[in-house]
Amino acid sequence: MTRFVSIGECMVEMAPQGKSGQYAMAFAGDTLNTAWYARRLSPDWVVEYATAVGYDPVSDQMVDFLSDAGIGTDFVRRVDDRTLGLYLIALRQGERHFSYWRGQSAARIMAQDGPFLLRAMHDADVIYFSGITLAVQEGSGRDKLLDAVARARTRGKTIVFDSNLRPGLWDTPRQMCDWVTKAAALSHVVLPSHDDEARHFGDKDALATRDRYVALGASTVVVKNGPGLIHYQHDGARGVTEPAVVSDVVDTTAAGDSFNAGFLTAHFGAAEIEQAIHAASNVARRVIQGRGALVAI
Ligand code: ADP
Repeated sequence: MTRFVSIGECMVEMAPQGKSGQYAMAFAGDTLNTAWYARRLSPDWVVEYATAVGYDPVSDQMVDFLSDAGIGTDFVRRVDDRTLGLYLIALRQGERHFSYWRGQSAARIMAQDGPFLLRAMHDADVIYFSGITLAVQEGSGRDKLLDAVARARTRGKTIVFDSNLRPGLWDTPRQMCDWVTKAAALSHVVLPSHDDEARHFGDKDALATRDRYVALGASTVVVKNGPGLIHYQHDGARGVTEPAVVSDVVDTTAAGDSFNAGFLTAHFGAAEIEQAIHAASNVARRVIQGRGALVAI
C-alpha cells in the first residue's frame, strides 16, 4: 500500500454557467487535482492532501469535498483569519479568462508551521508538491517547505515535483527559476511541461528540459509536451513515447495534473517506465475530452 501525500493550495473555482449570469462553485488546484485523480486511479492507495484552510464555512465545505472524494484530511491545517483562495472564470470572446483572489488564502501560511509539514510527511511513501505550492508561500515559507522536503528525503521518502511555472505568482521570472531549480534538486521524480520550461528557462527542445532536470539529480524525468512527443529519462535510460492522438479536445484544464496522477499510480504500481507514460497520457487524453479540472474518468 502506497501512502501518497500531495501538498499545496486548493482554491474555490467560480465558473460561468451558460449566459444566465449564474456561476457554479467547485474546488480545484494543481496538487489537489493530482491527488483527486490518484485517488480514483489507485483505490488501494492512501491519498492525503496537506494544506491550510480557515475556520469558515467554505473551508469546511472544501474539507468535506476532500473527504467525499476519499482523500485524507488529517493534514489540513486550520488557521485563524484566513480562508480559501478564489478564482473566477470569465469568458471574453469565447476565451476563458481567470481572475484570482488569493491574498487571504490560508495555504499561503501553511509552511510557517514547520512541525506541521514534518508530521504530514512522516508516514508518507511518496511526497508530491509543485512550483505553485512553493510560489504561494509567504515569508520564510518557501525555505521551510524545502527544508521539510529535504528532511523527508533524508528519511527515505520519494519526492515528486511538478515545476508548474506560473510567473504571475513570483516577483520576477529569475526568482521563479531559482526556487524551482532548488526544489527540483531535492526531487527524485520531476514532471515538467516543455512549453513553460522553454519560455522561462530557454530550453531549445524537450530533450534540453529533460537533461537540465537530470543534471540536477532527478533519477526520473518525464517531459509533458501537449500533443508532442514525451521525452523521458529513468535510471539512466532515455527514450521517447508518443501521446495518444486526440482529435476532439474540449478543455485542456488539468491535462498535466491528471497526467502526473496517471504516471505516478502506474510507476509506483511497478509498471515499466513506458507503460507508465502510456497510462499517464491515456488519463490526460480522457480528461481533455471533458470539461473542467476534475473529470469523472
Ligand atoms: P500542462 O497541462 O502541464 O501544460 P501539457 O499541455 O503538456 O501539460 O499536457 C500534459 C499531457 O497531456 C501531455 O504530455 C499529453 O500526454 C496530454 N495532452 C495534452 N494536450 C494534448 C493534446 N492536444 N493531444 C493529446 N494529448 C495531449
